[in-house]
Amino acid sequence: MRFSNSFIPTTKEVPNDAVITSHQLMIRAGMVKALGSGIYSVLPFGLKVFQKVMNIIREEMNAIGGQEFYLPGINPVELWQETGRVESFGDIMFHIKNRQLILAPTHEEVITSIAKAHIRSYKELPQIWYQIQSKFRNEPRPKSGVIRSRQFTMKDSYSLDSTSEGLDKSYNLHAEAYKKIYTRSGLKFFIIGASSGAMGGSGSQEFMIESDAGEDSIILCESCDYAANLEIATSNKSKINFGSSKKKEKIFTPNIKTIDQLSNYLKVHVEQCAKSVVYISGKQAYLIMMVGNDQVNESKLKSVIGTEFRPCTDEELVELFSAEAGSIGPVGVSKNIKVIADNRLKDSTNLITGANINDYHLLNVDLLRDCKIDHYSDLRQVEKDEPCKLCNKQLRLTTGIEVGHIFKLGTKYSSALKANFLDENGKENPIIMGSYGIGVERIAACYIEQNHDEFGIIWNKALSPFDFHIIVVNVKLAKVVEVADNLYKSLSEKYSILYDDRSSVSAGVKFKDADLLGIPFQIIVGDRNLENNSVEIKIRRTNERIIVPIDSVLEKIKNIYE
Ligand code: ATP
Ligand code: MG
Repeated sequence: MRFSNSFIPTTKEVPNDAVITSHQLMIRAGMVKALGSGIYSVLPFGLKVFQKVMNIIREEMNAIGGQEFYLPGINPVELWQETGRVESFGDIMFHIKNRQLILAPTHEEVITSIAKAHIRSYKELPQIWYQIQSKFRNEPRPKSGVIRSRQFTMKDSYSLDSTSEGLDKSYNLHAEAYKKIYTRSGLKFFIIGASSGAMGGSGSQEFMIESDAGEDSIILCESCDYAANLEIATSNKSKINFGSSKKKEKIFTPNIKTIDQLSNYLKVHVEQCAKSVVYISGKQAYLIMMVGNDQVNESKLKSVIGTEFRPCTDEELVELFSAEAGSIGPVGVSKNIKVIADNRLKDSTNLITGANINDYHLLNVDLLRDCKIDHYSDLRQVEKDEPCKLCNKQLRLTTGIEVGHIFKLGTKYSSALKANFLDENGKENPIIMGSYGIGVERIAACYIEQNHDEFGIIWNKALSPFDFHIIVVNVKLAKVVEVADNLYKSLSEKYSILYDDRSSVSAGVKFKDADLLGIPFQIIVGDRNLENNSVEIKIRRTNERIIVPIDSVLEKIKNIYE
């Protein structure tokens, strides 16, 4: 393609809201153009990259037996009411036509409705159905360019199985396909255990790239494979042990409100002071007990007390415990309050807790002897440098961007929509489902996050919009143009070429644009090298420059490319 005829609006200007590198470079390279907050037009140079990503995805999905669909982006709202997801998506979902229609943020409902209409027997299972299509999500703070936009392209696939072993198999096929997709795309990625969140279901893993621009906190072990979203991460931080039970005592602790104040005042280890935090979920009050200054992890708490919870107000605390925050504890609480303690506290002795009387604490609380713990659960947030639960080496806390997510949904949607099949015994069962998503633009943006320098993008062969970038240095010299034209013609037979034949810009601008656009190989045709019957090949990634005689240029290029 001749640059002079093409629309690649490179620019030095980046809008103020483009703070992360991939966002800046995609705009500067004329790949995308913002139309509104979180809404992007994809321009030709960008579309070529996205299409390459989609092709890789399509090939790997077909390789695991996926069948491609194209589902509507506009859905009747009733379908989503049946699964309760109008509520769970809330403001993220776009409603149109007086709330009769929605713009689909994902497609479990549509897929399940098709399965319900057509799948009858276990003999028709398993199935893997996928599509590559636009999704609409009214992200509250769209940022980071196409990494988080309000309309984006997702490959979403769904597995339908008759047994849980079948689901495991479909899930593992997807995990393998995803690894191939990211590897072929050139991403350095890792896989983490994740929370299933609002999607429901049992198992789930996220494919992440490490990045300062990421919004997910991740715990990683440098020594072994352990990696998990902070939402579910656990460590080997041990249970506490303060020796054999002693006699419980009430002590005066004037104006002591925090765990740090308490441990300083009593000159005890902070871990001996058990913290009590009270939450309300629905009509139920929960007293959550944690070791010393361990933080409650809200995702873990959600999975124990339900998604809709809030901290107890000061007035409610007084009503429920006859004491204020800072003096609350588990001993003698009303039966209506559920007490849940973190696993590190299991059957602990000699703890210091609030006495449920303002300015008083209890010494030597024995959880078995002195209170009723409804149950123990893992509720704490892992901190950096804690020991890995698998190998005991130090854990690292970092941030990442999710590029893909695979879920074992189970029967959440098939039960809600009554998508059943008849098993071998003629009994009706809900289809066992999995759901698997990959963001197309996000892969391209994450690739740029990992592959750029101060001058621009550095594409690999798999994602580059063109194989070669030919640059004519002096358009006014007929000989130079002739050599470049010929090279363009003969290379075009086998490769895709961006041919910078522009007479409107200087050679310096062309070189800058070439580095910005980041095509892996540049072929520079200029008078100086032509005097020696040569052209220059520049490898974008290494900046290596090779002078090649014209008569062997095609062969040399072939070698370099292969
Ligand atoms: P996130 O936590 O980043 O919002 P998600 O958990 O909502 O992602 P899924 O619903 O699992 O994402 O969607 C599957 C994939 O779609 C994600 O892994 C990501 O690559 C992509 N994706 C999700 N939301 C967006 C968005 N707003 N813009 C671009 N890509 C997105
Ligand atoms: Mg999201």
